[in-house]
Amino acid sequence: MAKKQFKAESKRLLGLMINSIYTNKEIFLRELISNASDALDKRYYMSLTNDSHKVSKKELKIQIEPNLVEKTVTIRDSGIGMTKEEMENNLGTIAHSGSAEFKDQLEKASKNIDIIGQFGVGFYSSFMVAKKVTVRSRSALEEIGHEWVSTGEDGYSIQEVNDLPIGTSIILELKDDTKEENYSHYLEEGTIRSLIQKYSDYVRYPIEMEVEKSIPDPTEESKFIITKEVEVLNSMVPLWKKNKNKVKPEEYNEFYKSKFNDWKDPQKVLHYSVEGNLAYTALLFIPSETPYNFYNQDYEPGLQLYSKGVFILDHAKDLLPERYRFITGLVDSDDISLNISREILQQDRQVKALSSSLSKKIHNALVDFLEKEREEYEKFYHNFGLNFKYDIYKSFGASSEELKDLLLFYVDKDGKYISLKEYVSNMKEEQKDIYYVCGSSLEDIEKLPALSKIKEKGYDILYLTDPVDEFMITMLREYDGKQFRSVTKGDLDLENEEEKKEREEASEKNKDLLSAMKEVLKTKVNDVHISSRLTEDPVCIVAEEGISLEMEKILSRDPMNPGMKASKILEINPNHKIFETLKKKYKKDKNSIQEDVEVLYDLALLIQGLPIENPAEYAKKIANLMVEASK
Ligand code: ADP
Repeated sequence: MAKKQFKAESKRLLGLMINSIYTNKEIFLRELISNASDALDKRYYMSLTNDSHKVSKKELKIQIEPNLVEKTVTIRDSGIGMTKEEMENNLGTIAHSGSAEFKDQLEKASKNIDIIGQFGVGFYSSFMVAKKVTVRSRSALEEIGHEWVSTGEDGYSIQEVNDLPIGTSIILELKDDTKEENYSHYLEEGTIRSLIQKYSDYVRYPIEMEVEKSIPDPTEESKFIITKEVEVLNSMVPLWKKNKNKVKPEEYNEFYKSKFNDWKDPQKVLHYSVEGNLAYTALLFIPSETPYNFYNQDYEPGLQLYSKGVFILDHAKDLLPERYRFITGLVDSDDISLNISREILQQDRQVKALSSSLSKKIHNALVDFLEKEREEYEKFYHNFGLNFKYDIYKSFGASSEELKDLLLFYVDKDGKYISLKEYVSNMKEEQKDIYYVCGSSLEDIEKLPALSKIKEKGYDILYLTDPVDEFMITMLREYDGKQFRSVTKGDLDLENEEEKKEREEASEKNKDLLSAMKEVLKTKVNDVHISSRLTEDPVCIVAEEGISLEMEKILSRDPMNPGMKASKILEINPNHKIFETLKKKYKKDKNSIQEDVEVLYDLALLIQGLPIENPAEYAKKIANLMVEASK
């Protein structure tokens, strides 16, 4: 029989599994049982919604069969099964993960195999313990079954098999024991029993195994005989139906990892039930890390939906609004129809009510999280805060009411976070606005000349470093009646009456010089002003109200917005020596300042971390100035 080859990534993954240095090899059983349980869910759901595929609940089960002679462990289920094509597609490739990121991660992971499970590679974990894997399966939709066999990287074969019952058997021929690794203990009843209790107790179908029991010998007193009987090894109560106070944190963690393809414990678990018109139980998780593809197209958000304990849909997106798409988990409601499909989910009244109830609960839980576990919340925000910001922006501010108090901002280069509520409570008496500044990094922002006057006054400034930040701030509009004001845009309104007057007088007195400067820079800036925001630095560039310099940078990368430019203003510090020098020079000879003004403009760009147009020209001018100064 001809061997077929695995797809490239699958082959590499298999290689890693086979030579695995992963210490937690035992999770193979959890992975295979989890697949079996999913297959049983699908079969049961089909039976409830399609009369020609009726099956009695009694028939739905998982059987574990160790064979000490053959050194095999078989995991059998009476689930939905697979057709030949499904076997090829599901087992011949890595089902959901042939993506570039996956390959990247694999490359990095040559030593650290912890990525297992994160990419839905559950089935492949069988190769950690088995030298040969045989899958016999018959789909509920077909009469004929198939057998898939692989010994690893060199490919697999598939052939037809008659007389298979509906469902799937996975037969693992265990690897030979080595000095380091004992594989044969997976054949022992005690090992299997404890692994099932540890990882799969909540599985809603019976996991059966034939076990040896010693019973009193009816023929001879005080003697025992050994018999075999089938025992159900799991308690079968779905974890979410258990009393919350009786569930241990490890149980939640194991459940989460096996069901939602993560290799790390969740950061937070939310488990609750709601009674009343719409009764439901929710078991929700916040992952402890941002999924590698969270911001990509191929990330599938959404909760699992159950009705009366029956699995209905995976990735039911309509259950949660976009702003909470980082939540995984499941919802089980007796009030949702079994026949609900993905298409009608969106319009269903009950589903809408469910979604709004879930949103409220999640929101309250997050507010609580922020208040009571600040450090943990900051970690969460670091992972998923960007999602809130996008949501405010994309909803044109519609979600700001709900999200504004969940936002955190940096206010210094050390990455200290504060909330808007905290910002407002820290505000100085005379401070009217909430100040913010944008830049590509906290370090760059810290160096901006335009910050100095506001810092001197002791006001906090929000440091915005994500491209979406300023767009989001525009959508937020205000917080607690306070406006947001960019430190590098328009008039800052920082001066008292006297200072204002002083500046106006200085502008008036130097009117000619300022317009001469403007003339020099006419293709570059819209105006030249005397600054009210500088303390030490000679010059800075700010934008007029509207598009900011940061926005201009971001928009220039977007082909949809060509030529969206900030209107720039060069501001000069009236208290800096340079201004005095310029004044003198101008007084002597009106035409002498061209080169100085050009240099000042470039200086302003450089201080702000912006590129200058012509570095060679700039260098030449500086050299000239040095020569001139030494005369
Ligand atoms: P995942 O379970 O994360 O999708 P796996 O590699 O474990 O990834 O399985 C790949 C696919 O193979 C599953 O999604 C399912 O379609 C199919 N499959 C695996 N085991 C079974 C089984 N026991 N019965 C039916 N289908 C199965």
